Amino acid sequence: MSSATTTPASSLPIVADLHTHTSRSDGSCAPGEVIRAAAALGLSAVAITDHDTIAGLSPARLEAERLGLILVPGVELTVHWRGREFHLLAYGFREEDPGLNAMLDGLAQARVERLRTIVANLEHRHGVVVEFEAVRAGYPRAALGRGHLADHLVTQGVVTSRRDAFDRFLGDDQLDLPRPSLDLEQAIHTVRQAGGFTALAHPPRDLDDSQWVQWRDLGMEAVETRWPAADRNTRVKMGRLARRLGFEIVAGSDFHHPGRAGRHVGAVGLGPGEWERLRDRLRGATIDASATVESIPAEFVPRADSSRFVSSATANLDLN
Ligand code: AMP
Ligand code: FE
Ligand code: FE
Ligand code: ZN
Repeated sequence: MSSATTTPASSLPIVADLHTHTSRSDGSCAPGEVIRAAAALGLSAVAITDHDTIAGLSPARLEAERLGLILVPGVELTVHWRGREFHLLAYGFREEDPGLNAMLDGLAQARVERLRTIVANLEHRHGVVVEFEAVRAGYPRAALGRGHLADHLVTQGVVTSRRDAFDRFLGDDQLDLPRPSLDLEQAIHTVRQAGGFTALAHPPRDLDDSQWVQWRDLGMEAVETRWPAADRNTRVKMGRLARRLGFEIVAGSDFHHPGRAGRHVGAVGLGPGEWERLRDRLRGATIDASATVESIPAEFVPRADSSRFVSSATANLDLN
């Protein structure tokens, strides 16, 4: 039996959730609500990683400063590499960086055109007429997707719920258009130019080491090793891969909506040692929150009442 399976249960609490979504992309909570949920759980830090937009960071920062929580600037970029789509998490970048913002503006514009086509197809195929500009105006700072159109159809009384909207109309192949994506290499470089670093999100199981080495050589620095759908074997495998190839580790809940078991804010994240290491990397990055990062005590004292624990197998990796 491997040591990972014989390690006794660990009592390391989760102190940082590095993967959350807000209503600025396809989540249902406002940025401030995500921060309040993280603070209520006693987390030290949380990253907002909306799909293709950083619009949630400013409102989240106001709440994080008020509650004394570290907000790690983040975004989850849709990227492609050799014809395949991946999600690339980016952290610690300068939010005002012109190159980064040009890249995000391009994605936002492409999402607008995509949803415009979806709205046209909705009328042609289902006879449902929606004024596209009304949808757009309803979510002025969001990375637009079908979820926003579904919510608009609910408010218009066309459907009874988001689920109803997808079941009757939006799940239609003709309305499920490909999402815009960035070239992986270009995305990695742009984030690095902006002082940040990248991590592959929820990596598929079929990647081999040569693939990872290529991405590392392109400048990818980290990998998400734990996420809600990853089973224990996957988490151990990804932790080992990160150590073997020298990637930093990130982990998070991929929170989108309240009420989903195992996917609430803080359900998955970094333990104290892992967060300390990532915090050092973020200090190296020129992040706006550096003042608050500097103020974290070097010795993290776990809360006695914490009910959130890093699984034993991965806690073992954390300590080694
Ligand atoms: P899009 O980015 O336009 O492809 O929309 C994707 C988002 O739409 C997802 O993140 C969900 O929030 C929502 N969505 C997709 N499929 C469904 C479904 N079958 N039922 C409810 N919501 C869905
Ligand atoms: Fe999502
Ligand atoms: Fe993702
Ligand atoms: Zn996500």
